[in-house]
Amino acid sequence: MLIIGSHVGYKKDSGLVGSVKEALSYNANTFMFYTGAPQNTVRSSIDLDNVKEAEVLMKENGLDKNNVIVHAPYIINLANPDKFDFSCDFLSEELKRVNTFGMKYLVLHPGSHVGLGVDVGISNIIKALNLVLEKDDSNIMILLETMAGKGSEVGRCFDEIKSIIDGVNHKERIGVCLDTCHLNDAGYDLNNFNEVIDTFDKIIGIEKIKCIHINDSKNPISSHKDRHENIGKGTIGLDTLMKVIDCDKLKDVPKILETPYIDGNAPYKEEIELIRSVSKQ
Ligand code: FE
Ligand code: FE
Ligand code: ZN
Repeated sequence: MLIIGSHVGYKKDSGLVGSVKEALSYNANTFMFYTGAPQNTVRSSIDLDNVKEAEVLMKENGLDKNNVIVHAPYIINLANPDKFDFSCDFLSEELKRVNTFGMKYLVLHPGSHVGLGVDVGISNIIKALNLVLEKDDSNIMILLETMAGKGSEVGRCFDEIKSIIDGVNHKERIGVCLDTCHLNDAGYDLNNFNEVIDTFDKIIGIEKIKCIHINDSKNPISSHKDRHENIGKGTIGLDTLMKVIDCDKLKDVPKILETPYIDGNAPYKEEIELIRSVSKQ
């Protein structure tokens, strides 16, 4: 069965229950959320009763908690030495929050090297991940997201992700989140998805893929822009996105939509319905 959902809101008042309800309103069987606003570090305390209530709601609706994804805020930048301590501290706190919510996976943008070069960026990211994981006793997996290569983003190709994993001591705590818009914008031709996935398997190992962001792209291949488009309305197109979604080797991996709102409305119910209607799963 297709495991598909979208990113959903998380609000202080409705908590995780609100996020689950939003996912269910899209007929999704998984979802992704930020533990607060993605662009800032304001985080409210977690109401444990609310988490329990959300668990019951998930169970009642056949939504497996193990497929739910948390996304770390964008302001964490492990590659930037000026923000190093702040980013490490925030990531540590974020892992604790994910643990309290009872989720298994935290998606993280590897970072931007802010002009210092990819090698410096990668070594800073490795140093940070080792520091953070050394003193974290949860077994949450950090999923490094493949990036579009906008600005000085690190993680724009499989080799860069591989270099990061190579330097991390607790490799069992690191996985990968693919993003179809980012892959396209980074220069991977998703029309030949079998080739892309074979390349990934040779460099990193397919078993490391624990989440896939399904987005169309507003821009052509290799544009390094990172602007998401609605499913079937961009340069990747529905047929090609379905090659990713229906890839047999990735059928147990949760698929998450991060497509833009249309006229202020979430497009996820319709997009999930569209994908299910053409999926072979
Ligand atoms: Fe992301
Ligand atoms: Fe993404
Ligand atoms: Zn993106």
